[in-house]
Parts: sequence; C-alpha cells; structure tokens
Amino acid sequence: MENGAAPTAKPVIVAIDGPSGTGKSSTSKAVAAQLGLSYLDTGAQYRAITWWMVHNGIDLADPTAIAAVAGKPEIVSGTDPAAPTITVDGVDVAAPIRTQEVTSKVSAVSAVPEVRTRITELQRSLATGAERGIVVEGRDIGTTVLPDADLKVFLTASPEARAARRSGELKGADLHATREALIKRDAADSSRKTSPLAKADDAVEVDTTELTLAQVIECVVTLVEEKRAGK
Ligand code: C5P
Repeated sequence: MENGAAPTAKPVIVAIDGPSGTGKSSTSKAVAAQLGLSYLDTGAQYRAITWWMVHNGIDLADPTAIAAVAGKPEIVSGTDPAAPTITVDGVDVAAPIRTQEVTSKVSAVSAVPEVRTRITELQRSLATGAERGIVVEGRDIGTTVLPDADLKVFLTASPEARAARRSGELKGADLHATREALIKRDAADSSRKTSPLAKADDAVEVDTTELTLAQVIECVVTLVEEKRAGK
C-alpha cells in the first residue's frame, strides 16, 4: 500500500548544472542536507586535478602533456553535504584548489578528453554507490555524466548577479575583473569540444537572478519531492 514518503525510498539522483556564480554549490549542498542525500562537487574534482598538474610542473599549454598524466593523481571526494572533502594523493586540497591560479587554469585542464574520461568515471561510481541518493553539481552532469538522473536542474543568472555573488564570496574582489574572468571561463567551458557546459533537453531551467538562495533551495527541494512522489 502506498503510504506517502516511505523511509526506504529508492535512491534519487539529482543533477544540477549551470555556469559559475549561479548558486550551484550552496543550493546543491543545502538540498542534499535537507533531503538526507550525498553531495558531489564535480568542479572541485577538476580543480583538484588542475592543482596536481600545477604542483607537478606539467605544461598546461600542452594538452598532450596533460593527457599523458591524467590517470596519475588519486582524487578522493567526501560526499557528506555538511562537510564535503577533497584529497589528492592523500593531501587535503580544499583550500589550494580555490586559489586564483587554479581558477584561471582549470578550464584548460578540464577541456582535455582524457581528464574528462577519468573524472567522469569517478563521478559515476560515487553516484551509483550513494545509498540514499546524491546531488551532483557541475557543467555536464545532466548531459553526459548522469543522463538518466531522476531530476535535472539548470541554474542560470545574469552576468552581473553572478559576478556580484562571486566577488562577495571572494571578499571584496574587484567586480569588473571578476565579471570578465567569469565570462571568459564560462565561454571556454561552453565552447570546448568534449562535454561542454550545456543544458540537457529535459532539464528544468531556473533563473536565480531575482531569487534568494532560500527560494532556489525551496524550488529544487519541491522539484525533487514531486519526482519522488511520482510526478
Ligand atoms: O564549479 P567550479 O567553478 O568549481 O568548476 C571549476 C571548473 O571545472 C569549471 O570552470 C570547468 O572548467 C570545470 N568543470 C567541468 N565540468 C564539470 C564541473 C566543472 O568541466 N562537471
């Protein structure tokens, strides 16, 4: 007999994609915490492999050099939304992956097909291993990594809103420079050949420009609950 939200609900897979500064991370973490799901920040994985390449002196202007070592670093993501973690070869890289140096180089590394194959495998294995389900945020989750996700959300916002949010996070960074850097990174991520930033045909698009974070979270939680209730 159907009895509302069963405690042993089938695992739910939620894909949240969109460009930088749309509130993907804050939204995904909060939705996962609220619904008791795991959480995976796939941008952190691309940042981690980029950090390792910088640390090991790999020539990032040479995609062949990047491809040759793409399988070397061991990247481990902790998927508790209350305390997500990321290590490379056992080193905690949560802080160094957020530096300007890594941010400015990550698009060159993430465009290399061998890097994407490697990271995509990690993402799929974490998603299938999540007992209660998972919220996975990124750029190509709904299109490439988890095309059978139960719910796909594509977050957008105006470039001004995205830059304002990012410079707020970076504590007073120059707004104009932040906006330019963000637009440049999104253009690189959207135009790469392999698995670019794109909205899946069956994704629900949410424009967050005029919404508070709490409103975006509520909107996505409602979408997940509707899916779970069988639409
Ligand atoms: O989300 P975040 O800004 O931390 O992502 C950093 C970079 O990682 C992106 O600019 C993009 O180059 C890459 N990325 C990607 N595919 C994903 C997630 C992130 O290529 N699914």
